[in-house]
Amino acid sequence: MPTYPDRIVVIGAGPVGLCLALVLAQAGLKVCLVEALGDDNFLEQIPRAGTNHPATLEMYDRIGLYEKLKPRGIVAPVFHYWDRHEGRLIAAFDHAHLKNDTRFPYVLQCERIKIVEEALKMAKVEPNIDLRLATEFFSFEQDADGVVAHVVNADGAKETVAGRYIVSAEGARSIVRKAIGIAFEGFTYDDRTLNIEVAYDFRQHGYAERNYISDPTEWSNLFHWKGPPDRWRVHFPTDPKADEAGLLRPEALQAQLQKFLPTGKPFEIVGCNLYVVHQRVAEKFRVGRAILAGDAAHVNSPIGAMGMNSGVHDAFNLADKLIAMARGEADEEVLDRYERQRRHVAVAHTQAQTIRNKRLLSERDPAVRKRNHDELRRTADDPELARKFLLRTALFESLREADAIA
Ligand SMILES: Cc1cc2nc3c(=O)[nH]c(=O)nc-3n(C[C@H](O)[C@H](O)[C@H](O)COP(=O)(O)OP(=O)(O)OC[C@H]3O[C@@H](n4cnc5c(N)ncnc54)[C@H](O)[C@@H]3O)c2cc1C
Repeated sequence: MPTYPDRIVVIGAGPVGLCLALVLAQAGLKVCLVEALGDDNFLEQIPRAGTNHPATLEMYDRIGLYEKLKPRGIVAPVFHYWDRHEGRLIAAFDHAHLKNDTRFPYVLQCERIKIVEEALKMAKVEPNIDLRLATEFFSFEQDADGVVAHVVNADGAKETVAGRYIVSAEGARSIVRKAIGIAFEGFTYDDRTLNIEVAYDFRQHGYAERNYISDPTEWSNLFHWKGPPDRWRVHFPTDPKADEAGLLRPEALQAQLQKFLPTGKPFEIVGCNLYVVHQRVAEKFRVGRAILAGDAAHVNSPIGAMGMNSGVHDAFNLADKLIAMARGEADEEVLDRYERQRRHVAVAHTQAQTIRNKRLLSERDPAVRKRNHDELRRTADDPELARKFLLRTALFESLREADAIA
């Protein structure tokens, strides 16, 4: 029987892998963190997540990451629902209603790329993390005592990396998940979402830093990011039959933006991309010593900003269990609880809520739209209903439910 180093092998230095590695390392556990990207291309990742909910800020704070992110982000206590069809604000929700529930009664608009940049800097100086950048993981095996991962290292040579457990924080295409035959159950939307990044201050038209905009055909999301220069991200649905090159033509992007907000002057477009939206949850989050976390375990629509946030929550939940095991305070069965808790959250909260969010924004039936908007207005206007609503959207409710799962 081989002997395995007493460490956790984490694949992927995205927000989930980095948070997991930092929590484990700060508690004294050894980690080998494997990331395909190197120092030369780590920051060349397409724009993705960026809204960090209060519960996630509490977790970042625990590992010293919050103080690095706050100056690079925008504190946004309020978010808006708009009716694009009628061109008016439906409801404004203020996280100040959560002032007795959290030290962070706001979201931090801080993009994923800044989060991984700051967390990677921390990982580089953490003595318990053996960081392998520019190293591509391609397969692994496990037995009753440990795991061996096979990688191609920064010199292009094949190498093995062994440890007690392997955590797949590789993102949606997880090789680990496929290798252990776990189904990724759910569906993929037909339409891709168009993301346009614009240097323009939408606040002059009454928008908040974070806006969800309903419309029967052209729903949108509009988010503000700190620069320099400050940028806003606008999302639009697209025709499933349209070709990518046509959708991304500069004139097509300008036309989309002018339709959204007719200023008569060209917008300064600083980036654009198209993405496919999946709603899927892994059938299991663990097989033996192989464990899934973050997008490797669940993917969802970004409407509501739950993917990265719930992935970071997976990381902290799992880390605490691995730490308890290392200290002899829990046995391996605690990892089944990780699966029960976090899979419940993925199905009953993240999936359910993001599917509902998309339906809410794109509802076509005028009577249902009116009912939905009246309900949002009534909720925002009543402090207790608004607090309950925010406890759900800010993911506190999902954490409390998970805590109650044995
Ligand atoms: C447009 C858009 C907007 C979004 N907005 C939000 C939002 O506001 N809030 C929110 O919570 N979520 C949002 N999300 C979702 C969010 O981006 C993801 O849920 C999050 O990035 C998942 O983090 P992760 O660490 O699990 O995986 P990833 O971020 O995908 O990171 C995986 C890492 O693993 C590495 N890797 C992959 N394969 C290998 C391999 N074979 N070997 C070594 N390394 C490997 C990758 O290079 C990468 O660094 C958004 C997504 C999109 C597309």
